Amino acid sequence: MHTLQGIAVSPGIAIGPVRVLDPRGLRPPLRAVTAEGVLAEFERLDHALELARRDAEAAEREARQRIGPQYADILAAHARMIDDPTLRRDARTRIERDLVGAEHAVSEVLEGHANRLARLSDSHLAARAADVRDIQQRILAQFLGQGTDPPPDDLGGPVVVLAHDLSPSETAGLDTEKVLGFATESGGMASHTAIVAAALEIPAVVGLGRFLEVARASRVAIIDGDEGRIILDPDAATLTRYRIAAIERQARFQGLADLAHLPAETLDGQVVDLWGNIEFPAEVDPCLGRGASGIGLYRTEFLFLNADRLPTEDEQFATYEAVVRSAKGRPVTFRTLDLGSDKLLSYRNGHPPEPNPALGLRSLRLSLRDPDLFRTQLRAILRAAPMGDVRVMFPLVSTLTEFRQARAILNEVAADLVLEGVPVPDHLPVGVMVEVPAAAVMADQLAKEVDFFSIGTNDLIQYTLAVDRTNETVADLYSAADPSVIRLIAMVVAAALPRSLDVTVCGAMGGEPIYATLLLGLGVRRLSMPPHQLPEIKRVIRAIRHDRARVLAAEVLMLESASDIVNRLREALLDALPETPGPGPPAVTHDSRT
Ligand code: PEP
Ligand code: MG
Repeated sequence: MHTLQGIAVSPGIAIGPVRVLDPRGLRPPLRAVTAEGVLAEFERLDHALELARRDAEAAEREARQRIGPQYADILAAHARMIDDPTLRRDARTRIERDLVGAEHAVSEVLEGHANRLARLSDSHLAARAADVRDIQQRILAQFLGQGTDPPPDDLGGPVVVLAHDLSPSETAGLDTEKVLGFATESGGMASHTAIVAAALEIPAVVGLGRFLEVARASRVAIIDGDEGRIILDPDAATLTRYRIAAIERQARFQGLADLAHLPAETLDGQVVDLWGNIEFPAEVDPCLGRGASGIGLYRTEFLFLNADRLPTEDEQFATYEAVVRSAKGRPVTFRTLDLGSDKLLSYRNGHPPEPNPALGLRSLRLSLRDPDLFRTQLRAILRAAPMGDVRVMFPLVSTLTEFRQARAILNEVAADLVLEGVPVPDHLPVGVMVEVPAAAVMADQLAKEVDFFSIGTNDLIQYTLAVDRTNETVADLYSAADPSVIRLIAMVVAAALPRSLDVTVCGAMGGEPIYATLLLGLGVRRLSMPPHQLPEIKRVIRAIRHDRARVLAAEVLMLESASDIVNRLREALLDALPETPGPGPPAVTHDSRT
């Protein structure tokens, strides 16, 4: 049994057989080289061996910390085997003799070793074949690059998926009938992969560091999406404990379902709008079923990520219409395309790779640079708008000028449609997402022109603290409780107040129970979140007093650090709801390879 700690991104417990998705299982194609090309192949070979050795050494260091010495020693042996001059010599001989590419040569040499070992009757030595194949895959990964996971289809299932990484679109493509949960080596708390996992309600843990080598030999895994833990090949006692916890969890959720029809109102009568976040039309019903009174964030780009080409205007219209109709007259907030950064279209390579994509041509910037793309989307949204109560907001607005440009294009598109005789609403509320500190700082100016604000805390935290939201190595620095983030939110609320503009928090912070009282106390009256979080947040709202929330917010604004703020908020939550559940099943001890 192995227990590994990562970052909890989508709650719930999944227990099932293991399915590892790893690009390193690929075999290299046979590539002929000329006699003149041999020296270049030698260099490629040396380079790949060097990278693979460093890779194994890094894995060893990490394993020593995370898993323990037994597994780390195996990886140290791998690093030595990669460095073995015989391997280099044999591979060079093949390149020169057979005139084949370096990856093919090294793969053939190692495959030969693995086959010979596997045939030995001594079971200990035969088991070493797996080590040789591990090395082979590690070296090939250096030739092939890391980002080539095969698409996660044909899973058999139901299974627990373990992968190096899953892109947001791969995650979105997971068949929830077959995938019970997933865990990845990389990824951070607010990555879009995490958001999709929560939307699909698949328990998920990311940022586990290297563990696929161990996982490959495992048969069963538990994913604990509440605690950010995975357990490979659990012993009988652990398995039973988790099975019981999963049943209890289910019962608790059923209990909360009764809250769906009760108002989201504090004990002293302050009403709070609880709205839902969606990525796909099918999520509208779960939002409404759990008591959402509107859709506060529709991440429209997922329609684009899930396709193999750009959706046409009519295809977009059909999807948007489905969303608006399913909302049955309740407000739907369309967020225009937020592509770029970690949401890339595989089928559209017009934009060259950027050294720093989170600060590059993403989101509204991309839409403004690509007027056809933007106008087509706006046409489709405006055509769907008369079927319900639609609002539009632009993501990642950094300046007032950008907002003006975007709004001008929206107005032009609306005017074109009117000329074509297509009905569009007389008044369509248009807002901005505040997810760049610049927008929060300029909120008083923006407030003169926008109809509403929606605070995207996922990006606001990333850009305020200069912490990549997808990077597990800096995940400990990423916190909604940082005083700088809370002050920015207070600034936005203050800017909106004189004009009575709505302020929504639609980032993950809005769905976390610990922040609900604070946000209410700061003056936020609308929270938008993935559907599964709605009941819990309603439970908190119904247990607190607005006057106390205001006092708490004033107190929090004076605190100096994220940890002080988290402690104060935890205390306040426990005061209001003493029965708030603590961590899920009892901690499982960190154990070694058995
Ligand atoms: C945010 O940044 O908080 C947000 C809601 O947008 P996304 O998570 O899609 O970037
Ligand atoms: Mg964002």
